[in-house]
Amino acid sequence: MKGYVDKSACIGCGMCADTAPEAFRIGEDGLAEGYQEIPADSIDNAKEAEADCPVGAIQVK
Ligand code: SF4
Repeated sequence: MKGYVDKSACIGCGMCADTAPEAFRIGEDGLAEGYQEIPADSIDNAKEAEADCPVGAIQVK
């Protein structure tokens, strides 16, 4: 599984990178990105970030 961020919606709040650092990071543009295949033990955190993103910009699939 991997995290996908709609950068046109992301507001760069950083929550996803705090909640699931193995799935998301803040890029040089100040917006989040999914950057690697999510390790199995971090999928729950990634799903939590997906659910909690304030603008609904995340998909984990
Ligand atoms: S939680 Fe949502 S709005 Fe915040 S940085 Fe992540 S993708 Fe962007």
